[in-house]
Amino acid sequence: MSISENIRTIQTRITTACYVINRNPAEVKVLLATKTIQPPLLIEALDSGMFLFGENRIQEALPKVQALDGRGVEWHFIGHLQSNKVADAIGFAQCIQSVDRPSIIKSLHKELEKSSKIMDIMIEVNVSGEASKSGCTPDGVEELCRQIDTSVLNVVGFMTIGANTDDEVIVRRGFAKLRRIQAQAIEKEWVRESATELSMGMSHDLEWAVQEGSTMVRVGSAVFGNRKI
Ligand SMILES: *Cc1c(COP(=O)(O)O)cnc(C)c1O
Repeated sequence: MSISENIRTIQTRITTACYVINRNPAEVKVLLATKTIQPPLLIEALDSGMFLFGENRIQEALPKVQALDGRGVEWHFIGHLQSNKVADAIGFAQCIQSVDRPSIIKSLHKELEKSSKIMDIMIEVNVSGEASKSGCTPDGVEELCRQIDTSVLNVVGFMTIGANTDDEVIVRRGFAKLRRIQAQAIEKEWVRESATELSMGMSHDLEWAVQEGSTMVRVGSAVFGNRKI
């Protein structure tokens, strides 16, 4: 299958999932997770109308950002972020989706104060409680939000990685939890009302995420094929 066919399949899956719950498919953006994928395939995806790309590793992102310069890509950072890589992330990403701990917020403040930039971020929450996953605990969201200097950081929403199981009930429960956390954060004014993004759902569980309110699915293997690593 070609990349353009795979993208069409993703869009059909989203439309079908939306149809079931009477949701407008236009509310769901597709971000392509581009780890291990080289520029020629990324250009094919751009030619198929995709422009939201997410990278996990700074070292891997920088040459790709350069190779695709001028093509209108909106880069997000979606991987585990280290404090010493924050300056690089700010340099190319329009949004950092993986903000999950105070030390990263501190580093972001420090770097952003040097520039006059305001950075879009999402709070990554570990809704499944799996030890292998990044993300702050659901109970830690309030405290994390309180540490954010809103003059330099703009929280646009929340991100999570679904539970590592094919049990629909468990996976959907996690996505529903992120949605509740977001609603609560807005209601209690931990974040602004504009923090509406829910970045959740990947190749294997995007229908469940869409049905639980996802506004952005992050898709890699279903578009580019299985990664070797
Ligand atoms: C790789 C990755 C994805 C996409 O995963 P697939 O299963 O290939 O669709 C989504 N989000 C994050 C954070 C990733 O690292």
